[in-house]
Amino acid sequence: MEEKTIQLAGSITVDELSKALGLSVTELIGTLFKNGIVATINQRLDFETASIIIDELGLKNVKLERKNTATKTTEGFRHELSDKAISRPPVVAVMGHVDHGKTTLLDTLLHKKTVEGEAGGITQHISAYQLEHNDRMITFLDTPGHEAFAAIRQHGAMLTDIVVIVVAADDGVKPQTVEAIKFAQSANAKIIVAINKIDREGADIPRTMADLAQHGLQPEEWGGDIVMVPISAKRGDNLEKLLDMILLTADIEELKADIDIPAEGLVIESHMEVGKGSVVNLLVTGGELKTGDFIVAGSSFGKIRTMLDFRGKPKGKATPSTPVTVTGFKELPNFGDRFVEVKDEKTARKMALLNAQNQANELASANVTSNDLLRMMNTVDNTKMFNVIIKGDVLGSVTSVVDSLKMIDTKGEVTLNIVATGVGDVTENDVYMAVGENTVIYGFNVTVPTNISKMAARDGVSIRTYKVIYELLDDAKHSMEDLLDAEVVEEDMGEMKIMGVFRTEKSSIIAGGEVLKGKVEAKMLGRVVRDKQYIGEVEVESVQKEKIDVKELVEGEIGGLALKTTKKITMEIGDRIKFFVRELKKKTL
Ligand code: GDP
Repeated sequence: MEEKTIQLAGSITVDELSKALGLSVTELIGTLFKNGIVATINQRLDFETASIIIDELGLKNVKLERKNTATKTTEGFRHELSDKAISRPPVVAVMGHVDHGKTTLLDTLLHKKTVEGEAGGITQHISAYQLEHNDRMITFLDTPGHEAFAAIRQHGAMLTDIVVIVVAADDGVKPQTVEAIKFAQSANAKIIVAINKIDREGADIPRTMADLAQHGLQPEEWGGDIVMVPISAKRGDNLEKLLDMILLTADIEELKADIDIPAEGLVIESHMEVGKGSVVNLLVTGGELKTGDFIVAGSSFGKIRTMLDFRGKPKGKATPSTPVTVTGFKELPNFGDRFVEVKDEKTARKMALLNAQNQANELASANVTSNDLLRMMNTVDNTKMFNVIIKGDVLGSVTSVVDSLKMIDTKGEVTLNIVATGVGDVTENDVYMAVGENTVIYGFNVTVPTNISKMAARDGVSIRTYKVIYELLDDAKHSMEDLLDAEVVEEDMGEMKIMGVFRTEKSSIIAGGEVLKGKVEAKMLGRVVRDKQYIGEVEVESVQKEKIDVKELVEGEIGGLALKTTKKITMEIGDRIKFFVRELKKKTL
């Protein structure tokens, strides 16, 4: 069967999906219906729902892929080079099967080629470094795993110029070697093979080459076009030759970049550090990046506060193919995000917001989400719904509010239903969506224009704005608690032994006795028990001691009680009344 990939940015309409699958709309609507979804032709389905449906249809040849359009505003990133473009260092990734020697190769190169003492100082993991060979620079990327590379590829950027595929001469081509070959080919990168571990006894270079040829890599020596260099990463044999070959390949490729354009590149690693905030590794691919520059990556932006080279030394200016570590991003950008330099903070903020809105719109654009689907699939649903719309100042805050809300343990009694999310102030549309559905609109670090709050008040929609996430979460938690049915709780108060029954009517009794423990006072309820048998329930109307009304009788005291009953009870001497109070208590989460 023909393989088919459907790219989906956020959501897809029933109509579009049926066309993409080559099915009739009726057939698709039928399948949705079988799964509990009543859909119309224009209804939008989110990614998960679409995947579940494709699965349901048994379409094994169809693959759904998320299309990332989040960085739309940085499109034009891979622009045509101008005639002023200058040559730049090649960006090289080392890939191969596990244990074939990738790490050893990168380590040996780093130690051989960096000035003594410097390499020793590099203790933390680095995602990229540069070497100098024959007075020219080469940038090496430590591949964080093929998956991450796939992510970069998905972002449409050609990050690596050359992939060095490491194959152990005593082991030959293995599954990850094949994967590396495929990756390099799909990324349009040049391949150089390093046949490693030639110092090993079992090393068989010709056999390894034949093995590679079988997988489509024809050695140059045999008339093919793939350079293969036998090396020993451990001993350092032939590494100079490998570097020569990398530079030669770079020359043939005529790798160039413009530098008189705003700086641009890719996020290759990002994490938070105490005291520094976001620490982000960038690879510059065009222009010149400097400290003080304003940059935008996806929905995050910032002004570069510090910029260091891979050795951790301050760097004032980074040219194409240079990896740097920067601080100053207000939020963590994502791995694989493109970054661009913009002229000022205002532009940076605007662009980040725009990117965030694009992302959020994609998130929120689906009418049918997998949550709905799953809920409908498990129809036993006596849980309460808490509907919310989340608005935040930036995508990051929306995401963290959503994530935190999902973390509230509702003990399965309340279902959180996120109706919509979005970046920016609360809008008329949000209020429309909330009307009648008992939906709360939460605004995090956003404002509510007066006309919108008036409209919400008129329509009975609750808009709650917060600047502190914990307060917002507290509110949500309490609101969910309010949805729970109250619990009936009883508390034991005391016990009386009946010593005399003075009057018995249809709905009242006057009796007297001794309080054995605790106390009795008006309004308390009591269970009348005879020889452990339950006789009936009473309510204390008044309490008397020596014929005078008192507030209470406590342990050891003797007195009389006027009791109310709902049906006639015949009380006898020797009966016990166990007093208690009953209250409705709000359940908490
Ligand atoms: P990776 O999983 O591809 O990163 O492989 P490593 O670099 O961790 O190497 C796996 C093992 O092979 C380690 O024990 C290395 O010391 C060893 N090794 C790597 N290169 C060579 C080499 O050229 N010769 C020999 N004899 N051993 C090597």
